Amino acid sequence: MRQDAIRRVVIVGGGTAGWMAAAGVSRILGDMPGLSIELVESEEIGTVGVGEATIPQIVLFNTMLGLDEAMFMRETRATYKLGIEFVDWVRPGHRYVHPFGSYGLDMKGIEFHHFWLKGRELGDTTPLDAYSLAIVAGLQGRFGHPRPDQPGSPLSKLGYAFQFDAGLYARLLRRLAEANGVRRTEGRIVGVDRDGESGHVAAVTLASGARVEGDLFIDCSGFRGLLIEGEMQAGFEDWRDWLPCDRAVAVPCANGGERQPLTRSTARAAGWQWRIPLQHRIGNGYVYASEHLSDDEAAATLLANLDGAPLAEPRFLRFTAGHRRRAWVGNVVALGLAGGFLEPLESTSIHLVQSAIARLLTYWPTRAFDQREIDRFNAAHVEDYRDIRDFLVLHYKATERDDTAFWDYCRTLPPPPGLADKLAIFAANGRIFREHEELFTETSWLSVMVGQGVRAGGYHPAADLLSDAETLARLGHIRTVVAETAHLLARQDDILAHYGCTL
Ligand code: FAD
Repeated sequence: MRQDAIRRVVIVGGGTAGWMAAAGVSRILGDMPGLSIELVESEEIGTVGVGEATIPQIVLFNTMLGLDEAMFMRETRATYKLGIEFVDWVRPGHRYVHPFGSYGLDMKGIEFHHFWLKGRELGDTTPLDAYSLAIVAGLQGRFGHPRPDQPGSPLSKLGYAFQFDAGLYARLLRRLAEANGVRRTEGRIVGVDRDGESGHVAAVTLASGARVEGDLFIDCSGFRGLLIEGEMQAGFEDWRDWLPCDRAVAVPCANGGERQPLTRSTARAAGWQWRIPLQHRIGNGYVYASEHLSDDEAAATLLANLDGAPLAEPRFLRFTAGHRRRAWVGNVVALGLAGGFLEPLESTSIHLVQSAIARLLTYWPTRAFDQREIDRFNAAHVEDYRDIRDFLVLHYKATERDDTAFWDYCRTLPPPPGLADKLAIFAANGRIFREHEELFTETSWLSVMVGQGVRAGGYHPAADLLSDAETLARLGHIRTVVAETAHLLARQDDILAHYGCTL
């Protein structure tokens, strides 16, 4: 065994990030000889308590943990998610869906959307949505699992995620982590001891006087960044100029009607409202810019736009868009809200926790803490945030809305350089380039560009391999296959009932 191996891991915080870290690290490294993992959390301080919608990568995380899907759905009161429906974002009355999975069927190596663009030039006005199984099925309340073994079917190109009760998910992860040997300590951290020579955190002290020592500290303390900012002063890159929303008001309401496997985002005067259907309730919230809207107005708008009776008092949250300049400093690694925050418009925060855990496991340090590796970790962290920021800004930038000062600001804001480049390339030739390992695929960029009304100036010349008549016939055939496949899928409510969920 290496003499410089990390022996004591301390996770600070027991929100979604803390318990994901505890479950993930203990699952992969739990059997390492001499390794102990301790999680400290304070019920008195509590968790942020929101964060219910995810993206498809969560399926991989749950699989890595060995979770049975039906059990997971029952325990977290989860529903399936096939995409996000954007309402009123381009202009009031407009809607589109950003689906998981891709559009159309295999077109001999050329991206499907070039044939769709050609079809439009030929006068076929069918929206892109009609070529996505996720969208057609999702809007009908239907769900099916991807079938990569059926390459000719739109099911082969499907992706899916979950919408769940974050508190119940944390509870489930805690059970797994504790079964893997993670020790939980309840208590409020009131002090931090540093090593005089290295500057590393040596221990945290609790209000009870107890001292928890560690070699590696994973800071999951939420927005406050207890260790990463409070002690290590990592610095915060403030992006509120790009993303001016800085508050949210959240309230759950009673479930009414069938559960569509879709998150909904509706643009409002100074931001947008989320709607996340779970088994037992609907999660709702209004994300808004305090410069343009008061808390009272936000709460009134939210309460006036619920699909059922409110089940709690509205809860207000404050945040600033941006990220820690360094997510890893010395022997402290920040995950979750301690590492940064981007509004939940594309449900990316839990994914950022997951990808940081994967990266930490890849770069798992020794007590020597190689600075070159830490620098790489930090560079990747910044890239993740920047890529997602650009994608989020696209939603605000590409709009016709000019009905409020908020939308005027967003619409006329010069886009970040990466986004400006993507918009220009798409506007010229209908092409989308996915940078390095950015989270959002060509399909996602396409969906939101087209959905938000960005026009492509041309299509791939190879789309002319099919004659005009063949192009229109092929497009019609794909639409039919998508519609027929969707119709054969079960209703999500029936699937949940089959799992033994109480609806
Ligand atoms: P927290 O939940 O704040 O947990 C912090 C933990 O640290 C708590 O256990 C607390 O007790 C502990 N702690 C803090 N200080 C101390 C101390 N001194 N001593 C001991 N313990 C301490 N993400 C998504 O992926 N999808 C969404 O739909 C989504 N929606 C969101 C909506 C809003 C309005 C907001 C604000 C966030 C949303 N998120 C969403 C983000 C998501 O909620 C978080 O990424 C996720 O919950 C992780 O939070 P966390 O664990 O980092 O922090």
